Amino acid sequence: MNNEVKKGVSARSLNMAMIIIASLLSVYLLYSNYRTTKTYQMTEKITTQYIDCQNDAKNMQVASDYLTNKVREFAFTGNISCVNDFFEEIEVTRRRDNAIEDLNRYFSGTKANEGLQSALEASNRLVEQEYHSMRLSIEGRGYDIKQFPEVLQNVSLTPEEQSSTSEEKILLAQDLVFNESYLNQKEDIYNSINESVNELIASTRNEQMEITQEMRNALQRQNIIIVCLLIIALLLVVFTNKLILSPLHQAVANIRNQKKIPEKGSEEMRFLALTYNEMYDEREKQESELTYEATHDSLTGLNNRKVFESMKETIEEEQAALILVDVDKFKTINDTYGHAMGDKVLIEVAQHLRTAFRSVDYVCRIGGDEFAIIMMHANPGMKAIISEKMERLNESLNHPRRSNDIPPVSLSIGIAFTEKNLKFDQLYKNADSALYIVKEKGRCGYGFYE
Ligand code: GH3
Ligand code: MG
Repeated sequence: MNNEVKKGVSARSLNMAMIIIASLLSVYLLYSNYRTTKTYQMTEKITTQYIDCQNDAKNMQVASDYLTNKVREFAFTGNISCVNDFFEEIEVTRRRDNAIEDLNRYFSGTKANEGLQSALEASNRLVEQEYHSMRLSIEGRGYDIKQFPEVLQNVSLTPEEQSSTSEEKILLAQDLVFNESYLNQKEDIYNSINESVNELIASTRNEQMEITQEMRNALQRQNIIIVCLLIIALLLVVFTNKLILSPLHQAVANIRNQKKIPEKGSEEMRFLALTYNEMYDEREKQESELTYEATHDSLTGLNNRKVFESMKETIEEEQAALILVDVDKFKTINDTYGHAMGDKVLIEVAQHLRTAFRSVDYVCRIGGDEFAIIMMHANPGMKAIISEKMERLNESLNHPRRSNDIPPVSLSIGIAFTEKNLKFDQLYKNADSALYIVKEKGRCGYGFYE
């Protein structure tokens, strides 16, 4: 078998290629998804950071103001609980320190953080001034310093302050937390915190914008990949249809109708078609050989008796002539020249008969040295033509060419025409009786049934 397939697209390779591309795209899509999730988490973190920043700034401010209020209240009322509240804030609640720690976590090393740090330092300096004010209040009100925190006990008063009266001390204490320098320092702290926090918020916002842009890009890339995957899925459907399904449908239809399969579609489908078509040709050849053998005489190649008999009904309905031919004294040829020469003679006779008649006529070998010709569309009006044919036949067989060593032979021929309602058997008998008469009359001749 010739297994050469015309090079085409291999469905397997195409599928493999598409699956590899789709897999790579899917892996990239997964990776991109992972990145997007990470980015989303970052956004969440930054948003929390943003809120924390604002809270921390507020806490610092509130705590600072709280301390101011407490120290001022103490300076005016001498209420010791104010001192307790003050120290509770400084040592336990520590809102300012906590806020700074918090901000440090997010922004350590940044310029904004340095600002916050210095704000805390300034706030601490202010606290020193507040201690001083409290110490003066304590002294002014004659409280026992021992009941106050150590830090207040350690505050040293100037000799001038020490020598002033209680009332003057209280007034000094009040002045310390209301004078211009105190207010300026407070405002500086306030501005410092605000500036730093604004800077922190701005940098947070920048980061947020960068991340948002990154997320937008990632989503765009994902969209493109999804479109690519869709296109690949569509192409797979189209190619599968064009390269496999459609050729397969056609192949099934053709096989059912016992036809060859067109060589189209994928390389695999073409290979299938080629293999099937080769088998088909082989079977056709075998069938036609069998048909030929079943319908032809093996010696002469003429139609055999079976074909002749199958024509019975056709002849009854047609206008035709039945011509029966018998080789004269054939036994003698066999006896004289041998059986092989007898065969050669039969082949020669067959050859002459074949050339004497038209292709529409049926020339058959119906017995050993007997032949029958069904001359289609022939009628008694053609007797002259037929006679001439018969004479020429005998003439050429009687004078065989020197080149072939066949001995001269002659034929006896009986001819009968079909008639309306004339059965085949009768037609045969008619031709046979005409032949018989020729034999009786001395052979080598022809006769029409009258
Ligand atoms: P007639 O003129 O009366 O026809 O005499 P004949 O000798 O031809 O007699 P008949 O037609 O009865 O003889 C036919 C002979 O043909 C008988 C048989 O031996 C011979 N024969 C039959 N088939 C073959 C064949 O295939 N080859 C050869 N060589 N001879 C055959
Ligand atoms: Mg004979």
